[in-house]
Amino acid sequence: MENVEAKQPDFYNYLVENYKRICYNISEAKAKFRSDNDEVKLMGVTKTVAPEIVNASVDLGINLLGENRVQEFLSKKDLYSKNADVHIIGHLQTNKVKYIINEVSMIQSVDSLKLAGEINKLALKNNLVMDVLCEVNIGDEASKSGVSTLLLDELLEQMSGMEGLRLRGLMTIPPVGCGEAVFDKMHGIYLERKSKYGECFDTLSMGMSGDYELAVKHGSTLVRLGTALYGARKYINTEEK
Ligand SMILES: *Cc1c(COP(=O)(O)O)cnc(C)c1O
Repeated sequence: MENVEAKQPDFYNYLVENYKRICYNISEAKAKFRSDNDEVKLMGVTKTVAPEIVNASVDLGINLLGENRVQEFLSKKDLYSKNADVHIIGHLQTNKVKYIINEVSMIQSVDSLKLAGEINKLALKNNLVMDVLCEVNIGDEASKSGVSTLLLDELLEQMSGMEGLRLRGLMTIPPVGCGEAVFDKMHGIYLERKSKYGECFDTLSMGMSGDYELAVKHGSTLVRLGTALYGARKYINTEEK
């Protein structure tokens, strides 16, 4: 997919076409595999995407945005439409929580007790309850963040006891090219924890540009799309988080 600059008049059409295609694909997968009243949210993943492009997508109705890097987000956030609702989806260092605690509505990438503890501490200090997802390393890949399935329940127990956190569910990045069984396994893990943690535990964040239809088939409630929506990202550092 080619990258198109915001300044080009074609860009808006390009975005609209992508958005229509994505909505169509999601609704097809839902119609085939999910029940009618299941909701699947669409998040625009905005790393390296210029604020004016992000705002054009918000105007189309994609008001849920995912940001990976704290520094980049802080440099863009004041330019974002007031309708944008931002989640942190990338690996988050404990010492950066203080910069985003009042700026985002959810942190999807909690994968350690240390990070959960810091979010809890700063949430309480700021008089808020932060929505969080626990990131699961479903493929047990050394290169990926996320808690291993073996340690998941221990971390969830600890997080569920923290008053500054509202445990909303799980997030995952399945290995590239993995089979459907992995998506299905993740869905099973999600459903078991959902039955334990109740109503509030309502989010399975799974599915990216290359696999979102598969993710919708296997119970995702939120897909995170960058490339499919905004086009190929320009150069970013090798560690694509
Ligand atoms: C970059 C990123 C995405 C979006 O990836 P695409 O393949 O471009 O859709 C989704 N989730 C996370 C955590 C990401 O870092």
